[in-house]
Amino acid sequence: MNATGVILHTNLGRAPLCNDAVERLVEIAKGYSNLEYDLVKGERGLRYDHVQKILCELSGAEDALVVNNNAAALLLSLNTLAAGKEVIVSRGELVEIGGEFRIPEVMEKSGACLREVGTTNRTRLADYEKAIGPETGLILKVHTSNFRIVGFTEDAVLPSLVALGKTRGIPVMYDLGSGCFAELDCYGLEREPTVTDVLETGVSIITFSGDKLLGGPQAGIILGRRNVLQEIKQNPLNRALRIDKLTLAALEATMMQYFQPDRAISRLRVLKALTEPLKDVDKRVKKLLSLLRKERWEGVIMSVKKGFSMSGGGSLPTQEIPTLLLSLVSKHLSPSNLEERLRYLEIPIITRIADDEVLFDLRTIEEEEFSAIRNGLKQIFSS
Ligand SMILES: *Cc1c(COP(=O)(O)O)cnc(C)c1O
Repeated sequence: MNATGVILHTNLGRAPLCNDAVERLVEIAKGYSNLEYDLVKGERGLRYDHVQKILCELSGAEDALVVNNNAAALLLSLNTLAAGKEVIVSRGELVEIGGEFRIPEVMEKSGACLREVGTTNRTRLADYEKAIGPETGLILKVHTSNFRIVGFTEDAVLPSLVALGKTRGIPVMYDLGSGCFAELDCYGLEREPTVTDVLETGVSIITFSGDKLLGGPQAGIILGRRNVLQEIKQNPLNRALRIDKLTLAALEATMMQYFQPDRAISRLRVLKALTEPLKDVDKRVKKLLSLLRKERWEGVIMSVKKGFSMSGGGSLPTQEIPTLLLSLVSKHLSPSNLEERLRYLEIPIITRIADDEVLFDLRTIEEEEFSAIRNGLKQIFSS
């Protein structure tokens, strides 16, 4: 159980799937499906036909491809468009995500050559212009998804990079990281351009993850121009990075939610947790508190505190989301001891400690999980 308040917790499996996705996944897993079968023609069809249509309709992209994860999407795109050539990237965007994914290292493995421009804090359009030469294969922009550079900063915005690419005949790619289809700024969150907004700039291709703000299974999604996507699809590496039918089923069912944006916000747990009004979190924390107080554990002090949740998983890195926390203090167990025992339960509960209190963040806990919390604590406090 994720009681940390980090909504997209990379170590806890990132996005939980919505019910429709789980049902679809089970259905597909149990039997045969028309994965690569064209029902109209009665012959071999294409694996990605259905999901591609959904993605294009939702985003306005000309074409789409789905691979194993966003790292794979980058590797495949770079290898296809720029192996043996130079890829221009700002020094302010050479990101590392989750320890293993680093732009310069993926670039090297793709066979493309990194051409860094600008500085850590400032990169101008002119820096890109100067770097373009006969060796240039691609201009790459990378979303600084898990950090912010603040202060004296400047970067070239995507529309001007797209314009530059157009005049010099060089494709422009944007690694969007999270890739969001829902408008979130109306919920008090910082503005994150949607996938559709980004595609409207005329960028050649974009890549993003399926299990970050999208709220689906692990996947890497590539959207953009048909001619570029066709080239990528023909790369033999594509076969090695392809997704299986279960991921495809879960992704399709997740994407279907976005045809009704309100439904997506209420059914996809990641979006619900990000946008849920504080008063609803407040109701939930009070319910949990009164449920646990009925147990009358000796030497256990419980209270409600205010705090902040985080988006996590390489998205909205500086966004603090107001939340309510259930605080536990035990006279017989130290905070770290209690935190450890919660991790050892049959249903492990991952909490955080602050000011010598063990905290349960109700923004990432749902009411269906309350009985597991009560049973777990019962086991700890009665032994
Ligand atoms: C998360 C992220 C990746 C890696 O995506 P995975 O789906 O975890 O492989 C790559 N680039 C950016 C900018 C990211 O935020």
